[in-house]
Amino acid sequence: MNALESQLHYPFGDQMPEPGKTMEVVPGMRWIRMALPFALDHINLWLLRDEIDGRAGWTVVDCCIARGEAKAQWEEVFATQLQGLPILRVIVTHMHPDHIGLAHWLCTRWNAPLWISATDYHVARLNTQGTSGNGGEAAANFFRSHGLADPAALEQVRGRTNYYADMVPDVPRQYIRLLDGMHLSIGGRAWRCISGYGHAPEHIALYCEEAAVLVGGDMMLPRISTNVSVYDNEPEANALQLFLDSIDKFRPLPPETLTLPAHGKPFRGLHTRIDQLHDHHRQHLERVMEACRTLGPRTGADLLPVLFTRKLDLHQTTFAMGEAVAHLHKLWFDGQLQRRRGEDGVYRFALA
Ligand SMILES: [Zn+2]
Repeated sequence: MNALESQLHYPFGDQMPEPGKTMEVVPGMRWIRMALPFALDHINLWLLRDEIDGRAGWTVVDCCIARGEAKAQWEEVFATQLQGLPILRVIVTHMHPDHIGLAHWLCTRWNAPLWISATDYHVARLNTQGTSGNGGEAAANFFRSHGLADPAALEQVRGRTNYYADMVPDVPRQYIRLLDGMHLSIGGRAWRCISGYGHAPEHIALYCEEAAVLVGGDMMLPRISTNVSVYDNEPEANALQLFLDSIDKFRPLPPETLTLPAHGKPFRGLHTRIDQLHDHHRQHLERVMEACRTLGPRTGADLLPVLFTRKLDLHQTTFAMGEAVAHLHKLWFDGQLQRRRGEDGVYRFALA
């Protein structure tokens, strides 16, 4: 949790939409909040009043995971919140299940196109076909190579082959590609796509200058820090550097910008939050250096208690492992740590 949260300004206080209802945040933009069955227990979705080819309706940003409870909440939104108008398009910020899970269902039901980055579209499609998706033998090997030794945890990772497809059973067969710098018109206002890396393959945030609103997705969260992980399919990634460079792309936006985050409450104080996230990761990097300095060569698993004080379940342990490796890799790419692979196949990082 962000201990410096009070430095941010929440214009709506503790007000938030009830399940199945919406709340206007800016004229023509409405907030939907849906429950998630994880430690991160909710996601924010956005409804933007729109008109496409002379047809009035709504653009949806993000979808929630595929499950009955979320569909039922959507049904209530359709019945009571759309002013009798249709959903015209579905924009997905990135391929994580809580964002894209119900895209196929929404697009099919409303005959609406999916707008998403090409990278995230294709990774989502591959993952729905069970080739990867945060589990299986490759993921277990990756975690083991970074020091995760608990046989029960590794067995669970190995068995988790349908993890993604359970929450994202399918994605539409066609999409419209979102690219960094691209402008789209939503409800007569111009929105600019801002790509971001380090959290998802190619996350797209949307910025509207006229309304001074940023739909930040998972790249700009007020309360928790965005998960930044190295995954088994790209084991040499420098995800943390990509993330830090990406959030700096929001710095040119005006200070009064209202950020609509995918988790937590709408807030002002974008530049404060960018600085807080840099500080947060700088402190974590210092803790990793300190551990390597005082305790000798460290694995990713060795760093879990250094970086995370709370107790972690399996779901959180896999995220935490990815995040620990992301910190080690940044220090390794920066030349502050060197990496050796032991005869046990485990990577250990030591002061350079
Ligand atoms: Zn995400």
